[in-house]
Amino acid sequence: MRIPGLDVFTAHPKVGVTVGPQVLLARLANHIWIGKRWAALHEAIEQLHPPHIRNMGTVIGNVCAAVNYYDIPTSLYAHRAVLTLSNGSTTRKVAIEDFYDGPRGTAVRPGEMVVQLDLPPPAADAGSAFKKIYKARRRATDLHKINAAAYIALDAAKEKIIDVTLAIGCIGDHPVRIPFAEAALKDQLATEAAFNAAAELAAQAIAPMTDAAWVEEIRTEWIRILARDVLAQAASRALSRHDPAEDAHLAY
Ligand SMILES: Cc1cc2nc3c(=O)[nH]c(=O)nc-3n(C[C@H](O)[C@H](O)[C@H](O)COP(=O)(O)OP(=O)(O)OC[C@H]3O[C@@H](n4cnc5c(N)ncnc54)[C@H](O)[C@@H]3O)c2cc1C
Repeated sequence: MRIPGLDVFTAHPKVGVTVGPQVLLARLANHIWIGKRWAALHEAIEQLHPPHIRNMGTVIGNVCAAVNYYDIPTSLYAHRAVLTLSNGSTTRKVAIEDFYDGPRGTAVRPGEMVVQLDLPPPAADAGSAFKKIYKARRRATDLHKINAAAYIALDAAKEKIIDVTLAIGCIGDHPVRIPFAEAALKDQLATEAAFNAAAELAAQAIAPMTDAAWVEEIRTEWIRILARDVLAQAASRALSRHDPAEDAHLAY
C-alpha cells in the first residue's frame, strides 16, 4: 500500500474504468459513473457483506484472492475486465476469463503482481446488473449461494440486443460466461421470452458444485432465476438510457 503510483482510479463512460491495486472497494461504490454505467460492479460492491469490508478490501485483492464465492469477479466477467500483470520489467494483459486457473489458482506468476484492472467503456444504450441468492435464511455472509451478472447493449432503436455478456459465479472454481445463452440473445428483440430462453440455456449448461447441504436441483433453479433477472434488469437499464442531461457531463 506504500508503493507510489498504484492508487490510480479513473472512471468515465467515454474512456472506461482504470483501477490500481491500492484502490479500495468503497472508492468505486461512491463514484457517480460506476453506479450509473457499470451497475453490475456497483451492485456487487454494494451487496458485499458486512459493509465495512468495502473500506478495508481492495478491488484487485478481491479478484486475486481467487475465492470462488466472492462477488466482484462475476460482475467483472460481465464488464469484460482486463488485468495488467507486471514483474517490474515486463507487463502483460490477461482477460479476466483467462485469469483463473483451477482452485484458488490465478495467472499471476512468481515475481509478478496485478498492477491495473481496466473495464472498457459501455455502449451508448447499454445497461448491466448483478444479483445473488443466499441460502434459506438469506444471511449475506452465507457461502452457499449463486451470483450472476449481465451486460446488454441495444441498437439505436432500442429493440434488438447487439451485445450481451452473461456470467454466473459460485458454481465451480471461478465464474463462467455462458456463450450459448449470449449467442441465443444476440440480434434478438429484448423480450421476457428471450431472457427466459437464455436463462434455460444457462441452467442446462452448468452443473453447479454442490455439497452435502445442497442438491444440484436447487442451485440449478437459482441459476435459471438469476440469469433471467439480471438479463431483464440489464435490458431495462439499457432501455431507460438515454438521459440528455447526462450528456452535458460527458465532456472531459
Ligand atoms: C468478513 C468478510 C466478509 C466478506 N464478504 C464478502 C462478500 O460478501 N463478497 C465478496 O465478494 N467478498 C467478500 N469478502 C472478501 C473481501 O472483499 C476481500 O477479502 C477483499 O476484497 C480482499 O482485499 P484485500 O485488499 O484485503 O486483499 P488481500 O487479502 O490483501 O489479498 C488477497 C489475495 O490476493 C493477493 N493479492 C492482493 N493484491 C494483489 C495484486 N495486486 N497482485 C497479485 N496478488 C494480489 C494477496 O497476496 C492475497 O493472496 C469478505 C471478507 C471478509 C473478511
